[in-house]
Amino acid sequence: MNNFDIAVIGSGMGGSLISALNSDKNLILFEKDSNLGGCGSTFKRKGNYYNSGATTFVGYEQNHPIKKIFDKANYTPDIKKSEVAIRVIQNKKAVDRVKDFDTFIDNMDRVYPHKNNRIFWNTIKTLDEKFWSLQKLHYAKYNFSSYFKTANAVIEILKVFKLDVLKSANSFIDETLYGISDEYRAFIDSQLLITIQTTSKDIPLLSLALGLSYPFHDVFYVNNGMGSLFDGLLKDINVHKKEQILKIIKEKEFYRVISSKNEYKAKQVILNSSIYDSASLFDDVKIKKYYDSFSFSDQSAFVINLTLDSKEDFLHHYQIILDKNIPNAISQSFFISFSSKDDEKLSKNGYSVTISTHTKAVFWKSLSKEEYKKQKEITQNFIINNFLENFESLKKEDIIDIHSATSNTFKKYINRYNCGGKAITFKNILQTPSCRTPFEGLFNVGDTIFAGQGWPGVAIGVEVLNKELNV
Ligand SMILES: Cc1cc2nc3c(=O)[nH]c(=O)nc-3n(C[C@H](O)[C@H](O)[C@H](O)COP(=O)(O)OP(=O)(O)OC[C@H]3O[C@@H](n4cnc5c(N)ncnc54)[C@H](O)[C@@H]3O)c2cc1C
Repeated sequence: MNNFDIAVIGSGMGGSLISALNSDKNLILFEKDSNLGGCGSTFKRKGNYYNSGATTFVGYEQNHPIKKIFDKANYTPDIKKSEVAIRVIQNKKAVDRVKDFDTFIDNMDRVYPHKNNRIFWNTIKTLDEKFWSLQKLHYAKYNFSSYFKTANAVIEILKVFKLDVLKSANSFIDETLYGISDEYRAFIDSQLLITIQTTSKDIPLLSLALGLSYPFHDVFYVNNGMGSLFDGLLKDINVHKKEQILKIIKEKEFYRVISSKNEYKAKQVILNSSIYDSASLFDDVKIKKYYDSFSFSDQSAFVINLTLDSKEDFLHHYQIILDKNIPNAISQSFFISFSSKDDEKLSKNGYSVTISTHTKAVFWKSLSKEEYKKQKEITQNFIINNFLENFESLKKEDIIDIHSATSNTFKKYINRYNCGGKAITFKNILQTPSCRTPFEGLFNVGDTIFAGQGWPGVAIGVEVLNKELNV
């Protein structure tokens, strides 16, 4: 009864999408938390619902891996388009990132005027479109057929992008937007930080294009919280919630999977735990060594959740760029998402607001209990003061409930200090972990392996994994 073909450990975007694709197999999915979705989950606190991290849903469009997987799972999500993907506010000036190219360029010309704005953004958009039309995208190691498919993908990329592949983001920015102002550069870098977890320094032009282009796609708001997508995707899956996997033992023909409640056997194991947190699941020296070989990416999130009593209308998403770094953060910007007024679950008692910025993980871990509380308050107050300054109709008294999360909170609930993938750069491209491991039947999925973070990045990795599972 406890024998399975596939055991998936974790219900994040990666674990859920790959399970949905293999719903016809004898598959079991384990989730340690009571909510599904990891960084994309929705949780309840004092009667109010909040998104714990992810709030934007991108990639639900024809010929995109996400749409294909949702269709395969026979699940139509309850979503609505955000006509403005994001309003970026810097020094009280706002640029709306909208899908329509000409309107967007007009918006840019008003706030960040440059003779070459159209050329710059058109190149960014075109490169992104070419990327999503690639047919052979693949990256996996440790097997002849995997290397072969990866080589074919590289050949296709070289054919499609030609010399652009070798270009660095910074040289493209400096050539095209010569004399770029500090404000304009901060606009570009702040958006890259939320999409690819790094700035324009050290990245290829293609990463710049992918990182800046998501508002050129349809961006969706998810009714009833991002977490509802996972409930829908996993409706036909054998899911064991509140069951943490503690140990995995490699036997000759299968893996013995030991949880907080029971013991199982599985021919294939897919780990959706982050690559930095997987070593502790094994006693096998070689497997431990493999997972320990990936150097920790010390980047995580500071998230504030609010319930807000206001009659005002808001867009779904804003980004505020400041002229100085946020205390205890590694960013000078923060991202704000408001629940939709008509969302019966999230907006029941007022707006449900998620505010996030980037922080180091190790910093919070190293603090004493008292110091942790103090520093958390400093960061929270700083962000809230700047938030209120940029939304003049809002007052402190409108905040009915407030609480914040650091990397320690993410560790407690979803077992990871690090949040967000490691951007693929010139330096680390060959060290990027692949879904296939050197161990027969053991696979990885999620944002710490190829192709990266968020719905679109994780979904590419899932498509690759699905091909590798059946080699
Ligand atoms: C603040 C923030 C905002 C973001 N905003 C967006 C956004 O707007 N749009 C977007 O597309 N992306 C966004 N992202 C990125 C996106 O949320 C992540 O890239 C994605 O959710 C990661 O998915 P994953 O598959 O790596 O799984 P994770 O989210 O890491 O989930 C892994 C799951 O595995 C479970 N698990 C781990 N170990 C075990 C174990 N031993 N046993 C059982 N279960 C286990 C965990 O509890 C967890 O549920 C955001 C991320 C953050 C942090």
